[in-house]
Amino acid sequence: MAFTLAPLPFAHDALEPHIDTTTMQIHHGKHHQAYVDNLNKAIAGTEHENKSLEELMKSAGKISPAVRNNGGGHWNHTFFWETLDENGGSMPAGDLAKAVHDTFGTFEVFKEKFANAAMTRFGSGWAWLIVKDGKLEITSTPNQDNPLMDVAEVKGTPILGVDVWEHAYYLKYQNRRAEYLAAFWNVVDWKKVADRYEKAMPKVKAN
Ligand code: MN
Repeated sequence: MAFTLAPLPFAHDALEPHIDTTTMQIHHGKHHQAYVDNLNKAIAGTEHENKSLEELMKSAGKISPAVRNNGGGHWNHTFFWETLDENGGSMPAGDLAKAVHDTFGTFEVFKEKFANAAMTRFGSGWAWLIVKDGKLEITSTPNQDNPLMDVAEVKGTPILGVDVWEHAYYLKYQNRRAEYLAAFWNVVDWKKVADRYEKAMPKVKAN
């Protein structure tokens, strides 16, 4: 079963002015499509052909650089699009808000720490908010790695991620990664992040 590129869950211009139309067209239609195509080429005719993307992530370091890079690219971008919403922004509510406060003190401190992880990721990569052992943690990965991979320095379940490859922001923001990151908060779908948080938390059995 070959992997396919799903349509964006919103229109290309939906995230304007925070993420511009041309960036979305190229990012989804060219970059993400290329990860899907190259992943399919890398697994065609191999024992990995019928594995799920999640299975491939767990053993990414043992397969091949092509699967690690393009499989990661496919997983990360799919996750990223699902995180964004034109009606996003504001801040988390409910259990996730409580966890953010318990872990970081305030939402503002969380945003600073997350942006710092994104700013200090040298070159291309991603910053993540993950659930690890029932707790929130901020981490970052190089290239198209992610915290699901066996090779990740810090492993966990991602609930929020931001792409800091230049292709994610260069057309509008040029070298100003900090401005792109500040704009990103306006389009984060916190309901989606909260859903992922609930699913990632270990279940406590009643009685
Ligand atoms: Mn990207």
